[in-house]
Amino acid sequence: MQKIRIGIVGYGNLGRGVELAIGNNPDMELVAVFSRRSLSGTKSGVPVISVNDAAAYKEKIDVMLLCGGSATDLIEQGPLIASLFNTVDSFDTHAKINDYFASMNTIAENSGTVATISVGWDPGLFSLNRLLASAVLPDGTNHTFWGKGVSQGHSDAIRRIAGVKDAKQYTVPKEQVIASLRAGEVLDVSSTTAHTRECYVVAESGADLDAITKEIKTMPHYFEGYETHVTFISEEELQAEHAGYPHGGFVFRTGSTSPKTNHVMEFALKLDSNPEFTSSVLVAYARATFRLAQKGSTGAFTVFDIPFGLLSPKSGEELRATML
Ligand code: NDP
Repeated sequence: MQKIRIGIVGYGNLGRGVELAIGNNPDMELVAVFSRRSLSGTKSGVPVISVNDAAAYKEKIDVMLLCGGSATDLIEQGPLIASLFNTVDSFDTHAKINDYFASMNTIAENSGTVATISVGWDPGLFSLNRLLASAVLPDGTNHTFWGKGVSQGHSDAIRRIAGVKDAKQYTVPKEQVIASLRAGEVLDVSSTTAHTRECYVVAESGADLDAITKEIKTMPHYFEGYETHVTFISEEELQAEHAGYPHGGFVFRTGSTSPKTNHVMEFALKLDSNPEFTSSVLVAYARATFRLAQKGSTGAFTVFDIPFGLLSPKSGEELRATML
């Protein structure tokens, strides 16, 4: 059987996670990593190619996994790469997903490619569970809690601020809010009021710490409106105390089907490594993207548009026999 040929664009946490995940999926092979930097090599030994030379790989790669940051990379790289390749990305700026979908859809339709966007766990697996629970329990309320864990998107957004050398951002759910909701209290909570954001920042020497703090706390879509705490620490402390990427969270919907009923639907994730897990979701969606393209589909897709069966290496018959 011909393996699905994968390329990785961007060799950060997610890029390295995809490289690892390809090794867990025997129906796929990694062809090359594409980067804006000149790197000495990759863990798996595949070559690092300048992202500017990606077009030369058009016939050698079935699906490109876009592993750049949502804050600035994907908006630029997504349309460029989708004009040449089928793509999967993890664009996670929720407020801009419809705009990003529209631009990727136009490019992919015109280029005859499939662009699967906003894949991961949120957006991604959490989105699927929110949709499923809302369809099953129309009379109810969805709640999403993240953490405590490192948000790569938010950490990445802080690292792009002038004067910032490195950063880690933890999203922390407010325990008292969860307890009240579970106890059946009807609260008017949003993600903004249900979480705090804890930022650990290493500044360049001589940087204006007040200006960095202000830029973080007022950053639209990321920190604006949240209770945000910014702590400046040394590079050594960041490495010693904040090296890992744990994350997780849960989505639940409480709802009723008649006056005396109260149903709870819940989906939870406890992740030792956010990038390794997110990358595994991207790789499963790369298989589905390849299959959609083989069937002649074009345009942009989200997790809402892709049948679950396409994610699995198993045939429909095997799935019906073992998992239905
Ligand atoms: P990184 O900051 O590790 O990498 C982002 C890009 O920055 C890379 O593609 C790489 O591009 C470049 N880069 C990486 N390391 C360095 C470095 N040392 N110096 C200079 N440039 C570097 O981000 P993550 O991989 O952690 O996260 C990527 C995105 O994934 C996040 O922004 C977030 O939006 C998304 N995400 C989505 C999730 C979901 O559930 N949907 C969950 C988790 C993350 P290049 O090689 O071209 O330089």
